[in-house]
Amino acid sequence: MGVDNVERLIDKFGRPITDLRIAITDRCNYKCVYCRTGNQGAQYAELAFSDYARVARVFAGLGIEKIRITGGEPLLRRGVVEFVEELARLRTLDGSVLDLAITTNGHLLAELAQPLKDAGLRRVTVSMDAVEPERFTRITRVPNAFENVLAGIREAQKAGLDPVKVNCVLLRGFNDDQIVEFGKFARSEGVIVRFIEFMPLEEDRVWSPQIVVTLKEILERMQAFRPLVEIPHTRSETARRYMFDDGVGEIGIIAPVSQPFCGHCSRVRLTSDGKIRTCLFSLFDHDLHAVMRRGGSDQDMAGYIRNVVEQKEARHHIGEAGFEKPSRSMVHIGG
Ligand code: SAM
Repeated sequence: MGVDNVERLIDKFGRPITDLRIAITDRCNYKCVYCRTGNQGAQYAELAFSDYARVARVFAGLGIEKIRITGGEPLLRRGVVEFVEELARLRTLDGSVLDLAITTNGHLLAELAQPLKDAGLRRVTVSMDAVEPERFTRITRVPNAFENVLAGIREAQKAGLDPVKVNCVLLRGFNDDQIVEFGKFARSEGVIVRFIEFMPLEEDRVWSPQIVVTLKEILERMQAFRPLVEIPHTRSETARRYMFDDGVGEIGIIAPVSQPFCGHCSRVRLTSDGKIRTCLFSLFDHDLHAVMRRGGSDQDMAGYIRNVVEQKEARHHIGEAGFEKPSRSMVHIGG
């Protein structure tokens, strides 16, 4: 069948599915207080890179255009550079290279940024929840780690990964005093800072509506520091984007809690153990790896994926009565 005849993945609500996130481990070297209890380690298996690569190839044949490697902490896995090299050989249905990105805590990025870039990685998102070293340690529960992350960010820029984004999850009373500091950081380091509203996806029970620092509040506090000008965004973009009035420094806000964007969701996720999750808040997952273990062909996998995508949830129900916590927490899904 020519590529023109391939039916691209689309769910029953008409949303095209173009974005795949692959978790390559659920191990993490950080114990961020809002994510992990600090007591639990890895809970799920890791597959061979050849299995993830096969999944990626089948998805690319169904219209996926973007792949983000995540975890757990993806840079903990040996072979990640070679994996990126393999993904870089894939093509979209239009014959373009895939848009390859990675989300990392940045701890091991300084030495891996250039090899990852050379392997074909386009961009990187570094998670960082404070710009003050001491505060950073309180959040990650790893001493002296801030310098590593800062070095990672700078090496990523030097290597030409573009853009380098820094994601920050704010918790009221914990790091919300860092908002303006992050604005200054965006300006001085030339990175795009994106604030993400805290979602009920933690191992523990930390989340409450009151602890979420909303888009509206972040904007008000940042505007008091310096006026912001909104950058027009496309319908499918998850972040609302802003530039400071003098053109120096971009920030974005991703507001899944106060302004959900499920109507434009284009994502599916593969967990480290080969399960498909159609929503961060799914109550169950779909065992694609079982199809592979049974000796299924690429066509069998494609059929299975189509069927799963059909079942993608309309939206999440954060903050509503009867909200059920998903069957896995963020670190075990892949953020
Ligand atoms: N270890 C990598 C990292 O630190 O970026 C990748 C995995 S981590 C789970 C991915 C992202 O999810 C991080 O930016 C983290 O801050 C974010 N995250 C974790 N728990 C979250 C939650 N409950 N709500 C919103 N974001 C969360």
